[in-house]
Amino acid sequence: MSSLRDRARELDAADPLAALRVEFIGSEDVVAYLDGNSLGRPLHASKQRLASFVSEAWGARLIRGWDERWMDAPTETGDRLARVALGAARGQTLVADSTSVLLYKLLRAGLAARPGREVLVMDSGNFPTDRFLAGAVAAERGLELRVIEPAPRAGVSVADVAGALDERVALVLLSHVDFRSAQIAELAQITALAHSAGALVLWDLSHSVGVMPIGLDAACVDLAVGCTYKYLNGGPGSPAFLYVAAALQDRLQQPIAGWMGAADPFEMGPGYAPASGIRRFASGTPPIVGMLALRDMLALIERAGIDQIRAKSVALTEFAVECGDALLQPFGVELASPRDAAVRGGHVMLEHDAFRELTPILWARGVIPDFRPPRGLRIGLSPLSTSFAELHAGISAVAELLPGRG
Ligand SMILES: *Cc1c(COP(=O)(O)O)cnc(C)c1O
Repeated sequence: MSSLRDRARELDAADPLAALRVEFIGSEDVVAYLDGNSLGRPLHASKQRLASFVSEAWGARLIRGWDERWMDAPTETGDRLARVALGAARGQTLVADSTSVLLYKLLRAGLAARPGREVLVMDSGNFPTDRFLAGAVAAERGLELRVIEPAPRAGVSVADVAGALDERVALVLLSHVDFRSAQIAELAQITALAHSAGALVLWDLSHSVGVMPIGLDAACVDLAVGCTYKYLNGGPGSPAFLYVAAALQDRLQQPIAGWMGAADPFEMGPGYAPASGIRRFASGTPPIVGMLALRDMLALIERAGIDQIRAKSVALTEFAVECGDALLQPFGVELASPRDAAVRGGHVMLEHDAFRELTPILWARGVIPDFRPPRGLRIGLSPLSTSFAELHAGISAVAELLPGRG
C-alpha cells in the first residue's frame, strides 16, 4: 500500500511540529513507538538536567536546596502545568504522590464536603485503580457505590450521568478520556449537571493532560488528578498532580495529614493544622528528582502550544483510522474508538482475537503498542515524538502478522 506510505511522508513534510521530534531521545531498535500515552519518551534536555541536578543542585547545595528551591517545586511546577495544559489559574495545582494516592485523598475530601449524602458514582469502564479506590473508599465510609455501565467501545455520556444523579449523590468520579476507547467525556456539561444536583465531580485527566486543551477553570471543575508519565513525559513513576478549585480548598480536608501539608511544617508542633490553599493537599516530602523531566516536557509543550498539539494529535489518530481501515479491516480488525475525531482523544483502540498473541511478536520486532484485554491493541500517539511514517510502519507491521493474510 505505497500510497499510504506516500501520504505519511506528505503529512510529515507538512507537520509544523515535526522539527520537535529531535528533542526526544531515540531508540535504535524501535521501528514504531505506539505507547507514548503509557510512558512518554525522554527528552535530551532531561538527560542533561538530571545529571546536572545530581552534581550541582543536590551535590553542591545539599540540605540548603530545600530552603533555596525545592520547597516550592510542587506548587511552582503545578502552576506551570496549570497554565500550559490545564486551563487553570495559579494556586490550584500541586504535584505530589501517585495518581492512586491523590485519588484516595480527593475522594475522601470531596465526599466529606457533602455530609448527609451517601452515594458515590463511578463507571465500570474506568481505569482499575480508579474503580478499586472508589470501592475501597465507599466501603470505608459506609457509602453506596452506584456504578454507571457505559456503552461498549464508548465512554460515559451526559445521559449516563443524568441517570445516575439524585439528591443522595455526594461525588461523581470519571475519566476525561476513556483509557480503552479514547472517547472524550463532556467535561463541562457533566460538571454542570452534577452541580445542579448538588454533587461534586472528580475528573481523572491521566489520558488527556498534555494532548489536548482542558479548560478546568472555565468548566468550573471542582477536583481533578492525573499522571505525569504519560503525555507529560515525566519518566517511570514520576509524581502525579491534583487540582482543587480555589473556592473549595479551605473547605476540604484530606485524610493523609502529614507534616508537609501542615500550616508550618518546620514548627514541629504538637498538633496538625492544615495549611491554607493548595499546600494542604500535600502529605510528605515532595519528590523533587521525579519532577525534573516533567519540567522539561512542560517547557516543550509551552513552546509547541497545546492547540497545535491537539491539531497534530487529531491528524495522527485520523491517519491511524485511515491505515486501519485500509490495511487491517480486511482481516477482521475492528475500530473500537469513536470515528468522530471531535470526541476521540489521543489514542486509537483496535480489536481482534489475534492481538493477545501478536503483541509480543510486534514488540520483538520493535513495534510497540499496548495490549489491553480481552482483544484490544491500543495505538498510542504522543504528538510531539511520533511521526506519521512511524505510525504507518507500525500499522503495516500489524497487518503483516494477521492470520488470513495471503
Ligand atoms: C495511568 C492511569 C492511572 C495510574 O495511576 P498510578 O497511581 O500512577 O499507577 C490512574 N488512572 C488512570 C485513568 C490512568 O490512565
